Amino acid sequence: MAVRVVHGSIRVETSSRFEVVDITRRVSEWLESVGGTSGVLTAYVPHTTAAIAVNEAEPGLMEDIIEFLRGLTRPGAPWRHNRIDNNAHAHLGNVIVGHSATVPVRDGSLDLGTWQRILFIEMDGPRRRRVRLVFMGETVG
Ligand code: ZN
Repeated sequence: MAVRVVHGSIRVETSSRFEVVDITRRVSEWLESVGGTSGVLTAYVPHTTAAIAVNEAEPGLMEDIIEFLRGLTRPGAPWRHNRIDNNAHAHLGNVIVGHSATVPVRDGSLDLGTWQRILFIEMDGPRRRRVRLVFMGETVG
């Protein structure tokens, strides 16, 4: 069994300032494409105004996440960073939620709980984003 480290990425295009996107299926497809069977997969954003979380992709909850983050980070509030590019709230949201998620891989699949999904959280869209992926573990062949 060869242990490998495989790097890749997927693109995420967002269409509003705040948006939660379920990227689980695309991450799973990437895992399948690289033949990862057992190990860990990390998905991370190379951005400071978007975030990654693992939670439920229920549509009401996805809106609640946005409302919750808006309330906490207060877009348009007199944050110092808003003097530069008016998106301090998005940076603060990234600090709260985090920039990555690591998920175990077992038998070739993401070992997520029944309701767990990998969520990309846009906080300063619309933008073209990239989610980077790293698989570390055993692969087919
Ligand atoms: Zn900024």
